[in-house]
Amino acid sequence: MFPAYAVDVGSEVLERPARNSIGGWPFLDEGQEWPECFCGERLVLFFQLDLPLDLGPFGGDHLLLFHCRTHEEAAIPDTSEDGRIVPEYWDAPYAGEDRPFWRVLLQSRAAKPWADPEPFLRALPLTLRAFTETLSERGKGAQIFKVGGTPSWAQDPERHRCACGAELVYVCQVPESMEFAVAPGQPEQPDGGGHGHYGLFLGNEVYLMACPEHCDPAATWPVNQN
Ligand SMILES: [Zn+2]
Ligand SMILES: [Zn+2]
Repeated sequence: MFPAYAVDVGSEVLERPARNSIGGWPFLDEGQEWPECFCGERLVLFFQLDLPLDLGPFGGDHLLLFHCRTHEEAAIPDTSEDGRIVPEYWDAPYAGEDRPFWRVLLQSRAAKPWADPEPFLRALPLTLRAFTETLSERGKGAQIFKVGGTPSWAQDPERHRCACGAELVYVCQVPESMEFAVAPGQPEQPDGGGHGHYGLFLGNEVYLMACPEHCDPAATWPVNQN
């Protein structure tokens, strides 16, 4: 288990790139394109974070979560008979479509920001704050936006194996029904969110579980529960 960091959302709209942000200018490795949905739309950058150095194999990585503006579902892993999530699950057919509607990236050399910011969301700064997590009697962690610590598991804890065989490791939690403010003049999210904000995975709580082997920059599964 990694140390716990609460992720606090600032209120002052960003005017320039920041490495820890909701929306904003994605920091991507050289050669990494801004990911697209199966529908051809560019995915919305929901947030990005530099992971603290004491986060084991993920220390110092840059985490980004993208999700389509118009396509939303709960993410349910498609598991092979040997218990691994299907090969190249980040690009594999999902829910009857030829690819998933989200992309989580761990980047190790994300030195430069993209030229333009995410247009659909208000760019807001994020701050990581170390805190001491008190577990519930059933061993569950705080139900907040956080990195590390212990998931608050709305249901039973889940374990998943990456296509490469490694056990996925929990790194970040987005609480149920978290709201991401829409940028002025941008359309509402067709299927979810609500007035003035977008949501992720139909409002499910999200536990990002990443491959400790870094077998691919996109080898992270967004576990959904409610
Ligand atoms: Zn889409
Ligand atoms: Zn892997």
